[in-house]
Amino acid sequence: MAPTPSIALIDLREQLKRIRSRVDWAIETVLDHGQFIMGPEVRQLEEELASFSRARHAISCGNGTDALLMVMMAKGIGPGDAVICPAFTFTATPEAVAITGAVPVFADVLSSTYNIDPAGVPRALETARRKRLRPKAILAVGLFGQPPDYDPLHQLAAAEDLWILDDAAQSFGASYKGSPVGTLALATTTSFFPAKPLGCLGDGGAVFTDDDDLAEALRSIRVHGKGLHKYDNVRIGLNSRLDTIQAAILIEKLRIFRRELEKRSEVASIYDRLIHSGVVEKPSLTAGVTSSWAQYTVRVKGQLRDALQRHLAKEGIETAVYYPRPLHQQTAYSDFPVSKGGVPTAESLCAEVISLPMHPYLNIDAQEKIADAVNTFDGSYSSSTGAGPAPARVRYPRSFRGCT
Ligand SMILES: *Cc1c(COP(=O)(O)O)cnc(C)c1O
Repeated sequence: MAPTPSIALIDLREQLKRIRSRVDWAIETVLDHGQFIMGPEVRQLEEELASFSRARHAISCGNGTDALLMVMMAKGIGPGDAVICPAFTFTATPEAVAITGAVPVFADVLSSTYNIDPAGVPRALETARRKRLRPKAILAVGLFGQPPDYDPLHQLAAAEDLWILDDAAQSFGASYKGSPVGTLALATTTSFFPAKPLGCLGDGGAVFTDDDDLAEALRSIRVHGKGLHKYDNVRIGLNSRLDTIQAAILIEKLRIFRRELEKRSEVASIYDRLIHSGVVEKPSLTAGVTSSWAQYTVRVKGQLRDALQRHLAKEGIETAVYYPRPLHQQTAYSDFPVSKGGVPTAESLCAEVISLPMHPYLNIDAQEKIADAVNTFDGSYSSSTGAGPAPARVRYPRSFRGCT
C-alpha cells in the first residue's frame, strides 16, 4: 500500500488557515442575520463577480453543472438539437446537454492545449446534420485553466448561426487576448466546488453574460421559473440558488483570488523551469492566453503514465488522472455521436495525462522534490508496467476525494 502522500495534489487547508478568522466572521454574520436563502451576501457577491469578470451580469446558482443546465434551458435547447462538446472534459459538460433531451456531439481536442480543436468543429457539425439533428451551440471548455481558442470558434459560430457557451469551471480567472473569462462567449459558467481555482466550502456555481434577456431568464430558472415572484411560475425551472453562507465565504476568497492566481502562475513557471524529463511533455499556453492553472497536467510518453504515477506515489507525491476515459467511451454516453473522423487526440490524452500537485501555497522545496522525482523517472525499472497499453486507473486524491 502506498504511504499517505506528504505532498497533496490540492491543499485547501493552507488557504483556509490564512483567511480563517475572516471566514469565521463571515459565517457568523450570516448566522446573526438569518437570511440563509438569497441573503444580502448573494447580491454582493454577484456584483463583485461581475466587476471581476467584466461581464454585465453574474448570476449565482447551486453548482457548476446547474449553471450549464440553466443556460441550456434558458436557450430552449431540447430534443432534436445538437451541441458540440469536446470529448476530453469532465462529465458535467455533456451531461447538461443530455439532461435537456438534446444530443452532445463529441469533437476532438488539440494535443497542445487539451481544448476543443476549432478545425474539427465542421466535421462534428456534419455528423450532427447527418443524424438529422439541428446544431445549435458549441460548448467549449477551458480545461485545466486555459481558455480555448475563441477567435476561430466565433468565426465558425457566426458562419453557422450557433452560439457559444464557455464552461469555465476550471478557467475562471484566466484571460484570452486581453479579455477576461466571463466575456469570451454568449454565456460563461463556473463552479465553486472547493477544489476549483475559486472554490467555496461546499457546492456553488455561477453564470456570466452580457445579454440582459438571458440574465433575466437565468434568474427566473434558478427559482422554479419564477415570474414576478416565486409563486408566479412562467417557465419550467430548477431550485438552484447559491447558499448565503457560501456567498459570504466566496466574498472572502475573492479578495485573495488575484494574488492566488499569480501564485499559481509562479508555481507553473517553476515546474516549467525544473522539469526536464525526456518522457514528460509539459503544458503550454497559446500566445496571448493566460491560465488560472486549475491543474498542472503533463503528458507521459511511451505508455509510462501509470508507472510514473506509482513512482510518484512511492515518493509521497499525490497525483491524479483527469480524465482516464474520453466521454464517448463512458457507458452513459456511448450512444451519442462522435465527430466524423473520430477523436484520436482525446483518446490518446486519456492514456497519457497526469496532473501534478498544484495550488497557490505549494512551496519551492515540495516543487523541487516533485521535479526531482519526475526527472529521475525513466520507467526502466518497472518492466511489468512498461509495455502494452496501460489500464486506465484513477487514483482519487486522498486529500480531496471527488475533485473534478
Ligand atoms: C467541475 C466542473 C464542472 C461542474 O461543476 P460542479 O460545481 O461540480 O457541478 C463542469 N465542467 C467542468 C469542466 C468542471 O471541471
